[in-house]
Amino acid sequence: MAALKIRVNPDPVLRGKAKRVTSIDRSVQRLIDNMIETLQTASGVGLAANQVGIPLRIIVIQVPDEDALVFINPEIVEKKGERLVMEGCLSIPGYHAEIKRAESVKIKAKNREGKLIRKKAQDLLSQALEHEIDHLNGVLYIDYLDSEDQLLKVDPEK
Ligand SMILES: [Zn+2]
Repeated sequence: MAALKIRVNPDPVLRGKAKRVTSIDRSVQRLIDNMIETLQTASGVGLAANQVGIPLRIIVIQVPDEDALVFINPEIVEKKGERLVMEGCLSIPGYHAEIKRAESVKIKAKNREGKLIRKKAQDLLSQALEHEIDHLNGVLYIDYLDSEDQLLKVDPEK
C-alpha cells in the first residue's frame, strides 16, 4: 500500500463529476487500499477517489475507534433533519467552517466485494457520507458558505 498525493482546491479534478465503477477489479482494490492508507496517513475522516486524482465513485470513511468503511457508487436515498456542524476537508487544508448537514442519512452503495449494502448513519458518519458523496459530484463544503469570511483558520495547536 502507498499513501497517495491529496489534490488541493482549486485542482479541477475536485470539480468534476466522478464516474460509476462498473467492475471492482484488482486496480480498484489497489486504489481502495491506497485510499485507506492515504486517509490514515492524513488523519482524516473521509476521502473520495477524486481527491487523489481518480474520478471514480469510491469513498472511504473512518470515524474514530472504528474500522475503515468503503462505499462504491454510493447514493443518498434519504436525508432527515438538519443541524449545524463544523466541517473541514483534506483538500482545503488549514480551514474549517460551520455548515448545515442532515441529522441522519440513509445510503445505498456496493462494498468492495460488490455486494449491495444499505446503511443508516447518524452523527459524524452521516456528515462524512454527505461530505464525501458531495465530492463525487464536484461539490465542496465551501460551496455552502454565503461568504469566504465564514471560513475559519484551524488552530494548529489543536
Ligand atoms: Zn473533503
